[in-house]
Amino acid sequence: MECSKCGQPVLWKRGLTTKILELAGLDLDTLDERCVIMSEGCPACCPGTTSFNTQVVRLTQEPEDSRPRLPRSACN
Ligand SMILES: [Zn+2]
Repeated sequence: MECSKCGQPVLWKRGLTTKILELAGLDLDTLDERCVIMSEGCPACCPGTTSFNTQVVRLTQEPEDSRPRLPRSACN
């Protein structure tokens, strides 16, 4: 899980991540290594706040066309 605000990894207490996922209606079994859990804030950047909205961001492979293309050889 990462903080979407400061980018720090968010370390929850043991088991809390699973609990958060359950509350959010998410099933750990449906998540794989391409899924990143983002937290809207974390104890590091929002001290005093104990609960944060979380969302699962699924990393998908970008289509080839969306990648920046290398400039063609200028030697023509
Ligand atoms: Zn943060």
